[in-house]
Amino acid sequence: MTSSFSNLSLAEPLARAVAEMGYETMTPIQEQAIPVVLQGKDVMGAAQTGTGKTAAFALPLLQRMMKHENPSTSPARHPVRALVLLPTRELAVQVAEQVKLYAKYTNLNSAVVFGGMDMKPQTLELKKGVEVLVATPGRLLDHIEAKNTVLNQVEYVVLDEADRMLDIGFLPDLQRILSYLPKQRITLLFSATFSPEIKRLAASFLQDPVTIEVARSNATAANVEQHFYSVGADDKRRALHQILKARGMKQAFVFVNSKLGCAKLARSLEREGLKTTALHGDKSQDERLKALESFKSGEVDLLVCTDVAARGLDIKDVPAVFNFDVPFNAEDYVHRIGRTGRAGASGLAVSFVAGSDQRLVADIEKLIKTKIELEPMEFEEDTPRISQQGRINDGRRMYRDGEEDGALLPESQQPRERTERRERREYLPHRQPAASRDPFFDRPYEPSAAPDAQPSWEAAAKGGAARSGVSANIKPKKKIAALFKSS
Ligand code: AMP
Repeated sequence: MTSSFSNLSLAEPLARAVAEMGYETMTPIQEQAIPVVLQGKDVMGAAQTGTGKTAAFALPLLQRMMKHENPSTSPARHPVRALVLLPTRELAVQVAEQVKLYAKYTNLNSAVVFGGMDMKPQTLELKKGVEVLVATPGRLLDHIEAKNTVLNQVEYVVLDEADRMLDIGFLPDLQRILSYLPKQRITLLFSATFSPEIKRLAASFLQDPVTIEVARSNATAANVEQHFYSVGADDKRRALHQILKARGMKQAFVFVNSKLGCAKLARSLEREGLKTTALHGDKSQDERLKALESFKSGEVDLLVCTDVAARGLDIKDVPAVFNFDVPFNAEDYVHRIGRTGRAGASGLAVSFVAGSDQRLVADIEKLIKTKIELEPMEFEEDTPRISQQGRINDGRRMYRDGEEDGALLPESQQPRERTERRERREYLPHRQPAASRDPFFDRPYEPSAAPDAQPSWEAAAKGGAARSGVSANIKPKKKIAALFKSS
């Protein structure tokens, strides 16, 4: 039995904001965490982003802060009272956006600071006075060192995606930040798992926490159709073209294991006529936001990304996920394909398995406890043949890229250029993460702004560049008939 927000007796400005956002019943994490936080107890919560976790901590904290609410414009009247620490800038931006919405009708201010951006605009925001500060650890330390913010009135701390912060190597930064805070405070820690490291962190920084778990298994959703195709590295792009067309997919995520591979693949696909954008850790913050926006608005059809860059993306759900490279970490498989088939919608997850990937597939099989059948990829005659020299079978000049095949290092182990020290720490895990905590995807697919727009592969087909049929290995769906008619 789920309970309604109206039972919470939230302050009117908060209740109004929640109603405006269309929330009626609480999600399980909210149901369990909100009353505990309202009572002022520490919480150790096992919940992923996408479960309504932000409201689970933000609403009760805002409610508790309402007693300090005041309309003064003096920064001194708006000291930082709640600090939310999280591992990535994307997550920081999203959480801050949500906090702003919940606090919209209050006089409680909020701001977000993260690396990879000029500090000045952030400093100006901080100097105005903010009650809720959302931050990535490295950049927050920069602001503390520059005396842009003072944390001696912090009453609440949220360590969000704590496991990810430890994976990235933020523990020393966290320890330093927490040493600046008053000892008397309420601390909430959210993590996808309670590993021994997380328990140690909790033991040092939390007092008698109430443990709340909203379980998430490694099971993959039953409504996601999963295929593993045996495809040579040189044929992966051709396979991608064929499946996209045959399935009449509108948008898809294409996952690769390396930053270099990501950029190259996106360029190749773009040159082959598919509207593509790339998202990887070497992109500037501005470029990342632009890439994200263009995918969300439907301007581009394919988002080629690495696991690290994709983590925390607020993209509600996509019809298809391609593992252009089989992930090195089996858990990343679950998180990658968790982006499709949400809210009962059917989803498609396709993995291209090269000869050297067998062991990785065996790891996935073990994790999802499902026998994986490797299917041969059969190409239709009219699927464009893409040669190593970057030529398509209609003679069109293609980009010559040497092709990535997953043999490259994972993103986290590649050299980085033009990254500042803090930013490097935010994106360069010290070791391969034990588990990828991929947030955001318990939400239904949000069609792009132009839902009827034709995907680029359809347009390419009309131009005769990328024609294809249905492989005997792909179960036909209704849309296939329409596809045949139009071609
Ligand atoms: P989060 O896990 O906090 O990132 O939330 C995931 C998404 O669920 C966000 O888009 C929220 O706006 C939305 N959401 C959170 N709580 C609720 C709720 N009780 N009812 C409906 N949507 C919600």
